[in-house]
Amino acid sequence: MNVMKAGYEILTPISEGGKEELQMIERIGRVCYKSEDKITEDGESAKKFVRMLINAHHEAMIEHSTLSVMFTVDRGVSHEMVRHRIASFAQESTRYVNYSKDKYGSEINVIDLAPGIALDRRMQDMPAETIEAILNEWELAMLDAEKHYMKMIELGATAQIARSVLPNSTKTNITITANYREWRNYFRLRTASDAHPQIREVSVALLNELKERIPVIFDDIA
Ligand SMILES: Cc1cc2nc3c(=O)[nH]c(=O)nc-3n(C[C@H](O)[C@H](O)[C@H](O)COP(=O)(O)OP(=O)(O)OC[C@H]3O[C@@H](n4cnc5c(N)ncnc54)[C@H](O)[C@@H]3O)c2cc1C
Repeated sequence: MNVMKAGYEILTPISEGGKEELQMIERIGRVCYKSEDKITEDGESAKKFVRMLINAHHEAMIEHSTLSVMFTVDRGVSHEMVRHRIASFAQESTRYVNYSKDKYGSEINVIDLAPGIALDRRMQDMPAETIEAILNEWELAMLDAEKHYMKMIELGATAQIARSVLPNSTKTNITITANYREWRNYFRLRTASDAHPQIREVSVALLNELKERIPVIFDDIA
């Protein structure tokens, strides 16, 4: 069994300072107001215009955008991600991937639970020994699931049948493609303090990076 960290990779190229992304929205959005004459080459008019759109809740204009992100998360988290209906997805298949094969390392991959525990507000005051005992129990369950998965395959089960014993912690790659409006909705829900700690783990990190790389669009999301 291999324990992996959760993470993400932004697949869509983003221009320096997010200038081109904002200018595209500006070019399209200014059609509404016939204010194309206000466009400046340096990108400053785009920042101002997009800020105005967001403040005025004229968010339909920021739908003229796309952003693809590949996440490495567990299947519990990916199940929450696919509830976002205004997005497109591609996910590693437990029907076609057979974790007993050399190609996949002949072991199951699981996402480390420790960072999720650290972010769970209701577990923060627990003594270190209790956390350790909980993690130990989790690890035993993962090893047990792996043992049964491999045994079922050995007995002739297909991957799509053996997957029934894979745990929620099984690592998956899932790519989400959505426009900025939908990403804003995603971040509002998935970085909130009541979101699941493991979806917060990757979503807060991604939001912070996007705030750095594309100004204005995500600035108002805490
Ligand atoms: C803290 C938390 C707890 C949750 N707990 C549960 C739970 O216990 N059980 C459960 O089943 N789910 C749960 N969910 C998932 C939740 O119900 C949503 O499915 C998920 O958050 C996607 O939200 P969304 O509908 O806003 O997003 P999207 O599906 O991406 O939709 C984006 C926006 O488009 C609009 N929209 C989309 N579809 C429609 C439509 N058909 N009609 C009108 N407007 C639409 C809405 O404005 C929506 O906000 C939970 C989510 C969170 C954040």
